[in-house]
Amino acid sequence: MLLKEIKRIYHLELDPVFPKGEVDSFFYLVIEHYLGLERFVLVMEPNLVVSKENEEPLFYVLSQLKEERPIQHILGKAHFCELEFYVDQNVLIPRPETEELVYWILEELQRQDSTKEIKILDIGTGSGCIGISLAKNLSNAKVVAMDISKKAIQVAERNAKKNNVDIEFVEGDILSILDFEGKFDVIVSNPPYVRELEKVEMKNNVLDHEPESALFVSDRDPLIFYKKIVQFGVDHLKKKGVLYFEINQYLGEETKELLGNGKFSEIELRKDMFGNDRMLKGMLNA
Ligand code: GLN
Repeated sequence: MLLKEIKRIYHLELDPVFPKGEVDSFFYLVIEHYLGLERFVLVMEPNLVVSKENEEPLFYVLSQLKEERPIQHILGKAHFCELEFYVDQNVLIPRPETEELVYWILEELQRQDSTKEIKILDIGTGSGCIGISLAKNLSNAKVVAMDISKKAIQVAERNAKKNNVDIEFVEGDILSILDFEGKFDVIVSNPPYVRELEKVEMKNNVLDHEPESALFVSDRDPLIFYKKIVQFGVDHLKKKGVLYFEINQYLGEETKELLGNGKFSEIELRKDMFGNDRMLKGMLNA
């Protein structure tokens, strides 16, 4: 079959299900993954023929996409900060907003003395995307990544290996941790922050395929992880150590207030590319 014909079928079947532009990006990811073709191939070779054998995976993916299975699960990979990560149902699929958080941290850390070791703790690492991207881009970083889920840690370990970085993994629950040793220059976390009441805003492909434990927090105490991590930071950040959070867009000010306990300065709330409050930083006083 002609490649352009397959593309037409993708649009026919998937355009009613997905936002504009998304089907094209799926199609290009799929032909790159299975056929090693780049996105401009149809401009260069408009009448490219795909063999029967090569067609098969393309139609398999189409049927999976139609059932709203995330493309990252179908292909077994997600892109984040120019790196590739394996993802499955045990971890959150890395989001572009989280890339912005990582780029913010990198921008600040890359300005510092690169001969001095930077100890970083990533709490709730999931796929490992934050910790691994930081380790990959900072030769002086020593990263510890923690998660409550053993299965998530296994995914993150796989990703550390895939990206050739050396990270220490710790299985632990930040809400009940007591005997944690060590102090850090940076603590970063993208904890669960979606309230049950926001579930209605979420898409099926998220709700059906990503772990609830990584996404949701109770309506009663939606900042529970932030409160705990701020408290943990007071004990486990070095003086002038910095805390970075990804946050719930509707709770920007409330989350920022948690750092208003007199122990933090240089407090900064930032918006993501969509204009939503999404990132927070605070430095523990000297
Ligand atoms: N931003 C994610 C979403 O809306 C949630 C991430 C999180 O809970 N930490 O799907």
